This record gives sequence, structure tokens and C-alpha cells, in this order.
Amino acid sequence: MLLFTTVSDLQKQLDKLRKMGKTIGFAPTMGALHAGHVSLIRVAKAQYDVAVCSIFVNPTQFNDPKDLEKYPRTPAEDTDLLAQTGCDILFMPSVAEVYPPDLAVKPAFDFGTLATVMEGAFRPKHFDGMARVVRRLLDIVQPDGLFMGQKDFQQFSIVADMLRQQHSTIKFVMCPTLREPDGLAMSSRNVRLAPDLRRRASLIYQVLTEVKASINAQTPDELKKRAMEKLCAEPNFRPEYFDIVEGDTLQPVHSFAAQNFVVACVATWLGDVRLIDN
Ligand code: AMP
Repeated sequence: MLLFTTVSDLQKQLDKLRKMGKTIGFAPTMGALHAGHVSLIRVAKAQYDVAVCSIFVNPTQFNDPKDLEKYPRTPAEDTDLLAQTGCDILFMPSVAEVYPPDLAVKPAFDFGTLATVMEGAFRPKHFDGMARVVRRLLDIVQPDGLFMGQKDFQQFSIVADMLRQQHSTIKFVMCPTLREPDGLAMSSRNVRLAPDLRRRASLIYQVLTEVKASINAQTPDELKKRAMEKLCAEPNFRPEYFDIVEGDTLQPVHSFAAQNFVVACVATWLGDVRLIDN
């Protein structure tokens, strides 16, 4: 595996590979890698000649400076794991490399109501920062395929919208959520859970599973209310939202009739760790 920290060195290598006719699959991450991230690289490698992973903890998408400070960083372990996975290129740039002072600031995208619900409502400016870094990384890497996780469903929807607005030809692939044996979605933030909260964290998945099993028996509003009550009743859980939305528009649904793509999305604090799942 080749490791690059500068845009120019990375691009020289990628240009060389493209001239040899190689196709490029790309998975952007913020590091502290786990098996979920590894699965993205494996899928990218299965579909393209060259798998590129980036590790960049993007400051512009953190609305809370404490969250940015506490975000886990394990570059040595990440590098080993990616090399074992068959990743071809790791790009690990500095903030100055991604956002040099002379970089032209492009007008922000308008994602409309896709970006004002759920994460957008609770993490102001988060999606502006996320879209900015994904656009910048895509400008740098210019991949043929982009691989992101269903775990961040709203993020996926917004990047899909960004690619549509740019008339991009990049193939955008949603990869399934990898879970711990008890059902908890793998997340870089899980290592920050206190042992007692980690033991009880699978409640998030249980509640989602129960909702999915009950869609023929109750309305979305009833299911949402029951899910919130269950999460609120658990000590040190502080749910921000449990929403049942139409999968394309991310707007709340109030009846399952005539719906064929519905997603339940949840965000909750467990102590001082914020987790999402869907
Ligand atoms: P992150 O490092 O958390 O920004 O995530 C980088 C990419 O990995 C995003 O596309 C995520 O959706 C994806 N991802 C995160 N957790 C998982 C998981 N448990 N299973 C599959 N993909 C994931």
C-alpha cells in the first residue's frame, strides 16, 4: 500500500495509474477504522482496479469543538489495517493540504429540505462541511466509483444529491452497515462508550428492529412515540430524534399506505457519546 500526505504526490500516482487504464474506487473516512470501513475498501477493491482510502478528520463538519477534539485518532493502527485489507493507496492529508489558503471557495450547494431534517436540524452546518470536504476529496482523487455507508443514510442522500447537481458520472455505491454481534452499528465513536453504556447500547438496534417488525400493526407516529419512550426510559440515554421518513425525500411519513421506501433514523446520546443508526 502506498501512503500519500500531499495532493500533488497522490495525483501524480493516480495520473500514472489512469494512463495505464486502471479504474479507481474511493472510500473517504475519518479514521479510527473498524470492520465497517474495511468492508467499504473490500467492496471498492472488488469493483475497481485500485482502492483508495482517505483518512481526514474534517474540522468543517464538526459543529461542536469538543467533539472534534475528542474524535478518536489511531493512524498507525489504521495504516496496518488498510494494508492487510488490500487497500492500494492511503491518502492522509493535513488540514492545510485539504484547505490551502489560496483554494478558491466554491459556492455551497443547496440541498433544500434534505439537509434541514434530522442530523441537519441537530447539527447546524454539519452537512455544509461534509459536502465541502467530499467535493474537495472528489476533485483531488477523481475516482470512477465512490463508496459510502448506509450507516450515515442522510449523508449518503446528500452526497447523492450533490453528485446529481454536478452531473457527475461517478458511480455511487451504498455499502451495508456492519454491526457488532449484539447489533450495535460499528462506529469509531463506540470506543468512547463507558462499559455500562456499551453493554446497553444495543437497545438502539433493538428499537429499530421492533419498529421494522411492527409496520403493519401501527402508524409511523405511534411507532415513533413508542421508540422515543423506550430510549428515554434508559438511564443516560438522551435521544435527539427517532424519525420515520420517506427514503428519497427524507420527509416524515404519517402512514405506511402507498409507501415503498421508508427509513427509520435515530440519533441518541449515550452519556457524552452521540450515536446514529437507521
Ligand atoms: P466515518 O469515518 O465515520 O466518517 O465513516 C466513513 C465511511 O464509513 C462513511 O461512508 C460511513 O457511512 C461508513 N461507515 C461507518 N460506519 C460503518 C459501518 N458500521 N458499516 C459500514 N460502513 C460504515
